[in-house]
Amino acid sequence: MMTITYEYGGALYVNLTNRCDCACVFCLRHNGHKGSIYADDLWLDREPTREEALADLLGRDLPAYRELVFCGFGEPMFRVDDILWLVDRLKERVPNLPPVRINTNGHANLIHGRDVTPGLAGRIDVLSISLNGSDAAEYCAVTQPRDGERAWEAMLDFTRKAAAYVPTVMMTVVDKDKTPEEIEKCRTLAQSLGAALRVRAYIPD
Ligand code: SF4
Repeated sequence: MMTITYEYGGALYVNLTNRCDCACVFCLRHNGHKGSIYADDLWLDREPTREEALADLLGRDLPAYRELVFCGFGEPMFRVDDILWLVDRLKERVPNLPPVRINTNGHANLIHGRDVTPGLAGRIDVLSISLNGSDAAEYCAVTQPRDGERAWEAMLDFTRKAAAYVPTVMMTVVDKDKTPEEIEKCRTLAQSLGAALRVRAYIPD
């Protein structure tokens, strides 16, 4: 079975890919997990086409959700062009489409080798970017990105650029193992990039 969309907390989540350029120590994709607290079966044996994703989304009562969230089991921005295509189709067809959010590691420009942020304008309402650490060393220790510290720089640059196009840009950290000083350092960094910091409670898997 392929879970493309699932409900959680009044929002509708969209799962388009398992791919990711990180190997976060806390990622649910490790350790044989195929699901999460949100849904049972998120591992995609193959990625849905954008047409399949659109059909799935149109089968939902979209205005009933408080938010439409592209996140998924992997990094959704591997499919940024498909996300933007889907949002365009939904905006054409669904009056009162709820706000659209992407949860991302912020590596899209590094992954694609181009600046994808202008395409977010008018389509994406909220971006939630995982900050995960207050400096490059901590970030890389936690997220183990394929491109090492370049990924940290790329994530910061992506955040700064996206803030020019997306009304609400948040960076998130999990409060586990963070001192108040580190949280404040993260907050200052996020704000310097045009983002707000959101501190999330740790959810053990
Ligand atoms: S960025 Fe997200 S999907 Fe990728 S390894 Fe980290 S937690 Fe998992």
